[in-house]
Amino acid sequence: MATTMMPETEVEKTEKKSGTKYVYFFGGGKADGNGKMKDELGGKGAGLAEMTNAGLPVPPGFTIQTEACREYMRNNSVSVDVDRQMEQALKQLEQLQGQRLGKGENPLLVSVRSGAKFSMPGMMDTILNLGLNDESVEALAKRSNNPRFANDSYRRLIQMFGNVVLDIPKDAFDEVFEAKKKQKKARLDTDLDAKALKEVIEEYKKVVKKHAKRDFPQNPQEQLVMARDAVFRSWQNDRAKHYRRINNISDDLGTAVNVQAMVFGNLGETSGTGVGFTRNPANGNKEFYGEFLLNAQGEDVVSGVRTPVHILELEKLMPAVYNQLREITTRLEKHYKDMQDFEFTIQDGKLYMLQTRNGKRTGLAAVRVALQMVEEGLITKDEAIFRVDPNQLYDFLVPRLDEKGKVEVLAKGLPASPGAAVGQIVFTADEAVAKAGHGKNVPVILVRAETTPEDIHGMEVAKGILTSRGGMTSHAAVVTRGMGKCCVAGAGDIEVNEKAREMRVKGKVFKEGDWISLDGTTGRVIEGRLNTLPPSPDDPEMLKFMSWADPYRTIGVRANADIPRDAIQARAFGAEGIGLCRTEHMFFGEKKIPHMRAMILAKDEKERRVALKKLLPMQREDFIGVFRAMDGFPVTIRTLDPPLHEFLPSREALMVDLATLAYADAKQKKALVEQYHDYGVKAVGDLKKKLPELLKRVEQLHELNPMLGHRGCRLGITYPEITEMQARAIFEAAVAVSRDGVKVHPEVMIPLTSGLKEMANQAAIVRRVADEVFAEKERRVDYLVGTMIELPRAALVADEIAKEAEFFSFGTNDLTQTTMGISRDDFNKVLPTYLELGILKQDPFAVLDREGVGQLVRMATERGRKTRPQLKVGICGEHGGEPSSVEFCYQVGLNYVSCSPFRVLTARLAAAQAAASDKLKVEAGRTK
Ligand code: PEP
Ligand code: MG
Repeated sequence: MATTMMPETEVEKTEKKSGTKYVYFFGGGKADGNGKMKDELGGKGAGLAEMTNAGLPVPPGFTIQTEACREYMRNNSVSVDVDRQMEQALKQLEQLQGQRLGKGENPLLVSVRSGAKFSMPGMMDTILNLGLNDESVEALAKRSNNPRFANDSYRRLIQMFGNVVLDIPKDAFDEVFEAKKKQKKARLDTDLDAKALKEVIEEYKKVVKKHAKRDFPQNPQEQLVMARDAVFRSWQNDRAKHYRRINNISDDLGTAVNVQAMVFGNLGETSGTGVGFTRNPANGNKEFYGEFLLNAQGEDVVSGVRTPVHILELEKLMPAVYNQLREITTRLEKHYKDMQDFEFTIQDGKLYMLQTRNGKRTGLAAVRVALQMVEEGLITKDEAIFRVDPNQLYDFLVPRLDEKGKVEVLAKGLPASPGAAVGQIVFTADEAVAKAGHGKNVPVILVRAETTPEDIHGMEVAKGILTSRGGMTSHAAVVTRGMGKCCVAGAGDIEVNEKAREMRVKGKVFKEGDWISLDGTTGRVIEGRLNTLPPSPDDPEMLKFMSWADPYRTIGVRANADIPRDAIQARAFGAEGIGLCRTEHMFFGEKKIPHMRAMILAKDEKERRVALKKLLPMQREDFIGVFRAMDGFPVTIRTLDPPLHEFLPSREALMVDLATLAYADAKQKKALVEQYHDYGVKAVGDLKKKLPELLKRVEQLHELNPMLGHRGCRLGITYPEITEMQARAIFEAAVAVSRDGVKVHPEVMIPLTSGLKEMANQAAIVRRVADEVFAEKERRVDYLVGTMIELPRAALVADEIAKEAEFFSFGTNDLTQTTMGISRDDFNKVLPTYLELGILKQDPFAVLDREGVGQLVRMATERGRKTRPQLKVGICGEHGGEPSSVEFCYQVGLNYVSCSPFRVLTARLAAAQAAASDKLKVEAGRTK
């Protein structure tokens, strides 16, 4: 149901001479720009233009487009054209309003806000009440008949301007304000009267002078220019850069700046401000959803400083305004054909729309809203499949709390972002990173009174977020929903003392390191460390949604699974086979590891074969389980890959044990016997002989660079009996299950080959053993022998390797490691600096490096298929479940991707979207 009520006007080309139109005016029912111009005007600017053109009540103003920001980034200043056009636009605004910026009896005041193409909530800077100075504050006081309001607005301007433009720490202002409250015995900010606020202003000016070594600028034009440039600079602040990185937004875009006439929500009890959604962003229910505060300015709602009221209350307080707001937002949703997230202000009973944009939502809500909108005829099924970010499907797989036994609910907050999180309390973002970042992975819950955009790095690594203040649209709520991370917000009973590093609730004190559990779906905060339950992936709405997306998919999605339990799980998520079964994981089982160790410690082939014989039936059992779970689907089994020393004790630990053996008492010796039992130490008397033998073998296996050492196919080539045993286990299992009617398609995969001869060597063993088993059992099964492409050389000579290999699977973990020459285990030390400096845009072990590693993937696929046109090609590195990498695999023409079971849904949707965007010729909704 298309609506035509919002015409999109053509861009007026008023700046033909210089060529670039930097400034776009909106106001008086007409805008220079329109809703499609997000590249130039940013999301906010485009929305303001669109709403103005539609005749909605939008305060007038102008948008300085993103090109000016890019210029600023290049030259540290904007061109004279920008200044000139801004002056003209300001004049136009002053004429339209019949006011002058910061001058006269009725001074014009403006807000200066950032607004990039993609919403980056709270990451960049905003300045309100610009135009106030020592004179205009008096005029405003007179005109509004509200000196308290005027002075409050002025002190807010000095504070915001001081912090954002002049880089003065917030604390410097907070200290003054809190001291004044104490002095006046004021409980709330609003308890300070005009006189007290005047005193605050004088003190604030001193703060400015002290820190910035200059006076707060009294000239409104100077304020405007400085504020504009500061907003441009804020594109480059750390939190904005961080946000762009995790959301895959280009650093080159720049932000627009919106300068808009101020309307005031803090003029008294007939004024207010609020934010809302046209549907519930947590669960997608079709209900008017949001929060507002009477007598407040915008930042008060989102910052969580005061806890707002539900938007439905507005109906009782101001019915006419409420009805107008509902009518406008319903129109907006129909127009944009998507759930809207809007901001409004009521000034003296008159409604103004400040912003509208497509609202951020959880995965659960994204699916439900997409389904509803198709039913309502707003969008087609084809459009619906782009309405869900593939990573959001994870929400359907997020854990729930296991509530068996006593559950002590400490407090109830808002269910800001669903799922469950269990972890140790930390009170600062830095502490969260120290404990959980850089691969440390200690589960932590970040507990804050309220989060601010500065906490983004801590929020990223925390399992969950708990705040004591703020609503469903507070920073914590919005950001965590976007991240798909559990969050409980506004748990007012909890008193958080970040300085003392403690939280108090129900008379109890919790310190850093104490365990709590969060339920983001109900908003409960629970004492202690609960277990979590796996979620059910069979939500009917999600399945319906996937039934629309999946038919577009042209490439397969398999799972990486090593044991029958994981294979069953993967099937439940829709995996169409196994793309990687890492057989070494099977050897780690309790019963198997002693035989594995015996095999490694064997002195010669004969001894090795004895140990392998014991392992054979155990491997066969595992394969039988996996084949059964994957009935009818292919199962790729990789022969042994890791260096053997991984199965033995560390060399250093052994040396210490050996050195201290002479001084050990009976108890210590007994402990050593237990410790080395699997290595042939059966009694205290064995220690003296066996430990040096063990150390000798460990020394033999010790490598300076094990990742480039005796691993992969090199193991099977030097110890062919290992490959033989594994091939036998595979084919015996396959024959056995096929007798029971299971359709079995084994694909035996040789790891880390770098050329044809290695491949031929191992393929010959596999094929020989297959023939032997088929002859013995008088039954055949179809199978393939292929290889992993994990080394640049393998990609280069892929045409050769394909003479023997019937399939390729890109092991992009190792291929990234070996192509870029960076260690997959240690790169985390370097990565933060590389990201910070922009040398890398993303972690190449998470998102496939298309330019480098991707070239090898493309080339090897092409070369391999030259030799063998029907060559099956897949990917089984971590990238196989990452949406942008999946898109790349589709573009290169891979047959399938394979990823961990929990990413199968994500990979299915990413693959479907990639194919659908090609077929339907639309830009994938996900791609930024
Ligand atoms: C790879 O290298 O991408 C791969 C899948 O193998 P592993 O992670 O086991 O080395
Ligand atoms: Mg590998």
